Amino acid sequence: MTVLEKVTDFLRSQKGKKFCDDCISKKLNITPPQHVNHKTRELECNSNEFERVQDTCVDCKKRKKVIGIKPVITEAVVPTDDADAATVLAMVRLYAAARTADERIVGNVRAGDIVRALDEVLPQLPLVRVLAGANDFSH
Ligand SMILES: [Zn+2]
Repeated sequence: MTVLEKVTDFLRSQKGKKFCDDCISKKLNITPPQHVNHKTRELECNSNEFERVQDTCVDCKKRKKVIGIKPVITEAVVPTDDADAATVLAMVRLYAAARTADERIVGNVRAGDIVRALDEVLPQLPLVRVLAGANDFSH
């Protein structure tokens, strides 16, 4: 497992919590801490999944740069429990589109592939298109 994978796995397991680089390096036994810093900066630039902001670390309570999972804005925008197919698919697409394209979010499927696959079938489902905000299909 690479340092980057260790860090992302850890942050995913700590949903809603934000940690500073020092605490992540201590918890994961990654030394030196600069190694973690390098990876969290990489995530800050390259990932839509995480956000790195000035805030209070949940562990050491110090106010500094911390990183955690970005709150998912699309969650429960529309209730999907027992909803019709169009609503369910639309919410899946919305969620997938908000993630990093190569992130595997459902089973082993990458977010980018979910969006691509849904976009292929969406033209047959006008309601999904409207709900998913994907009405810019050229036909
Ligand atoms: Zn800390």
